[in-house]
Amino acid sequence: MTDTFEQALADRVGAMLDACTGCGKCVEACPVTEPGGVTAAPRAVIEGVIDILRLGTGSEAARNWANACVMSGDCVRACHYGVNPRFLLAVARATMAKAKSPASELRKRGVEAFRLVNRDVTYLAKMQLEDDLLERLGQMADGRASLGTGAAPARPDFVFYTGCNVLKTPHIALLALDIMDALGVTWQVMGGPTHCCGVMRLRAGDTETFGRVAEATIDKLSQGKSGQVISWCPSCQVQIGEMAMPQIEKMRGKRPFEMTPFMLFLRDRLAQLRPLLRERVALRIALHRHPGVTGVMQAAEEVLRAVPGIELVELHQPAAGLMSNYLAVLPDFKRKLYRAELDAARDAGVDALVAVFHPDHRELCAHEAEYPFRILNVLEVVGASMGLRRDDRYKQLKLMQDADAIAADCADLAARHGLDAATSRKVIEAMLADQPLPLRGG
Ligand code: SF4
Ligand code: SF4
Repeated sequence: MTDTFEQALADRVGAMLDACTGCGKCVEACPVTEPGGVTAAPRAVIEGVIDILRLGTGSEAARNWANACVMSGDCVRACHYGVNPRFLLAVARATMAKAKSPASELRKRGVEAFRLVNRDVTYLAKMQLEDDLLERLGQMADGRASLGTGAAPARPDFVFYTGCNVLKTPHIALLALDIMDALGVTWQVMGGPTHCCGVMRLRAGDTETFGRVAEATIDKLSQGKSGQVISWCPSCQVQIGEMAMPQIEKMRGKRPFEMTPFMLFLRDRLAQLRPLLRERVALRIALHRHPGVTGVMQAAEEVLRAVPGIELVELHQPAAGLMSNYLAVLPDFKRKLYRAELDAARDAGVDALVAVFHPDHRELCAHEAEYPFRILNVLEVVGASMGLRRDDRYKQLKLMQDADAIAADCADLAARHGLDAATSRKVIEAMLADQPLPLRGG
């Protein structure tokens, strides 16, 4: 066993560097080397990454590759030697950040980034939800975890880990809970800023605080007693499951729990789900894809095909990134990708472009105003067939495209929750700015 997170991290990196043959297959498989300006040969690129990790400095191509990584995970699937290049690149980015700035500066950046997420998540959830629904999502003032309908409080089947940002589009998380209730699954919900995966700290290069934050959250999630956690967010799945958990396992000599993405959980229960898909949902749809967590898109497709009335159309568009917001490091590439996909969906005559993840919904939903189809979340389609509906307040608000109108629309709830008017305004402006592909004419 290892004493500290930092030591376990260093040991894990060392073991991977020893295992790496330098074959370059991971670089070849990566979908963003070209837009990321990674011009050297694959073997030279991975050599440069190894230099960053061993010596603190490496080639320009290696630095570009690390900075362009959008976490599609193709490199992980391409490596046959048990190395996780996506993890190595995350540590390489932290190493580069540490070489440039003192630890105190990195800590400050991590804290500031977390504060912003905390502010936006808390305010946006409260601008959309009454107390009872905030409580259902585990967002009580005292931080207690919410127990699902019919859950035996001492031993629910699963912990449902929402992460933070899905609370900005709470209808998605509420539908996940409704679907679990309909399946007779008992759950305990945990999430929000009090259950941070630590991604902001790792991104800032503060690996020490990342370790502390992730370990605290892993401890909270471990209290679920069933030993099973269902995750909603692919970023939490990767940060907790891939970036932090192996170190904690090394420190404690055992893995605290297994974590399953919600769509895989649902696909594995298709036999129980099918009889509940009673209503016909006559929609011609296309799926907006991100390949970062293996099997999730295939699972979403299988579940959607089980919905009576659904016709799934293939748009033959490239898919990259863990989820939409991860493509922010390559803004031009992202804009081209999304414009091409939206145009392809229009040309294919779909009724809806259906996304799985919450940032995809946030970033795409306002395009509903300029295209002849709807932007939906996969759980809205599944829910509609089960007779389960939740208002997509986020989309209603964002489609207004007017900060004053949005503030007025949320005024009652904002007053009831005691939200500060100036902060609400900033949050609304940030919501409207969360539009990487500008609206035409907007
Ligand atoms: S990480 Fe894996 S795929 Fe990449 S160079 Fe090393 S051995 Fe090859
Ligand atoms: S995770 Fe994806 S984007 Fe990042 S390096 Fe690997 S293949 Fe490229």
